[in-house]
This record gives sequence, structure tokens and C-alpha cells, in this order.
Amino acid sequence: MPHTRLLLLSNSTDAEGRYLHHAAAELRDLLGEGPREILFVPYAGVTISWERYAERTREALAPLGYRVTSVHEAPDREAAVRAAAAIAVGGGNTFHLLRALYAHGLVEAVRERAAAGVPYVGWSAGSVVACPTMRTTNDMPIVEPPSLAALGLVPFQINAHYTTFHPPGFRGETRAERLAEFVAANPGVPVLGLPEGMMVRVRGDDVRLAGTPTSAPAAAVFGVPGVSEAPAGERLDFLRASARPRAAPAP
Ligand code: ASP
Repeated sequence: MPHTRLLLLSNSTDAEGRYLHHAAAELRDLLGEGPREILFVPYAGVTISWERYAERTREALAPLGYRVTSVHEAPDREAAVRAAAAIAVGGGNTFHLLRALYAHGLVEAVRERAAAGVPYVGWSAGSVVACPTMRTTNDMPIVEPPSLAALGLVPFQINAHYTTFHPPGFRGETRAERLAEFVAANPGVPVLGLPEGMMVRVRGDDVRLAGTPTSAPAAAVFGVPGVSEAPAGERLDFLRASARPRAAPAP
């Protein structure tokens, strides 16, 4: 999509507990100098009220000069999306988020606005739903959206909070094993394992990684032959180029 302007963060909170602090420079670059109004989508919040979640985001973005309104307060939510100057989608539970986007008829509206160049920032679940499907989430399916198909603003998948940590003696799958299963079952759909501290920056066809990884040594790439890591700062054209979904192997 030639006009898309996206910032897809792995996580919102840094090791010191500061909310959206590590992304301040990239947020400014995406959204411009304030004042600017941002429409917040709080639907990934489950144990936090949407009021409190919106308030938290408002407090984090106010010092950058941005005003936040929340879509859940709008009398006509789809109209609010269609009128938004910028859209921010918060993290939490990805199933909960996507179910609400479908329930309120917002999937198409967000997709169209982002494709038209309205800046979109997502963190965690908000980054996962920017992908073709939400099937690379880490979350538990606590609710059931009508489909796992998501916004498709980028042609590859993101796994947020990517980590190489595996407790000694723990027998469950590593994150890398889980993502290797995804690409085996979904040939032609590459996955970017995005460590905390990192973010994907999209300006039309220009896709790059920014930030500093804190939960893994580097961003990991799955499903692209011969590539296992993505370097920060360089264009990630190989992700775009190898995104050619093929039929999954028969069960
Ligand atoms: N639960 C995560 C979030 O913070 C999403 C994920 O881990 O896939 O939004």
C-alpha cells in the first residue's frame, strides 16, 4: 500500500515501567509535531476499563502534544474512525481486540483509513492486528472473533514481545518453535519476531526496524529462506518480497 504510514511496536512499557517512552521519537516522526488529535482504540483491554486505558494513553501522549479521544466514547464509532486524523490501537488481548473491531464494524474502516495514509500506531496486540491475520499472537483465545483475518496493513506477520528466554528444564515449546510451526503451516507468510524495545516503521513500501532489542538479541525472521535475523535501520524488503501465501499442506 503506497500511502501507509505505520508504527508497530512490540511493547508499550519499558523496563523502567515508562509507557510509550521508548517510542517517543518515532511517534513524533509518524504523527508530526502536536497538537494533533489521535483516536485511540482500547478494545484489547480486558482487566482495565476502557476509560482508564484511554486515560493512561492520554497521559502518555499529552507531553508529546497530542490529544487522545477514545473510539468507545464516540456516538458513531465507524464515523469516528473515518474522521480520525490518526489512529492508535493499544495492546492487551488480541482476540478481545479483533472481536470488538468486527463487532463494531471497524475492520474495513480502519483498513481503508490506514491505506489512505492516516497514520496508524499499534503496540503489541495493536501491532498484531495490523498483519494479515492475528494467528501469530501470544494470547489465549479468551473470546472468539468471527474470523482471525485482521487488517492486513503489512504483508507479513509480527510476533510481539519476541523472546529467546526459555527457563532451564521447562518442557513447553520455545517461541521460535511455535513460530516455526506457523510458517510450516502457512507457507509464504513470513513472520517477524519483534523483541521488546523494537518497532516496525512503514512509509509506503519503505519498511524498517527501529529501536533496541531488550528481550532477545535481535529481531528474528521465520519463513524466509536463508534469513534468520532482521537488522535494525535497514529496509526489510525481503519480508515483503517473500510474502506469497500458498496453500497450506493438507491436514
Ligand atoms: N498480549 C500481547 C499484548 O500486550 C499481545 C501478544 O503477546 O501477542 O498486546
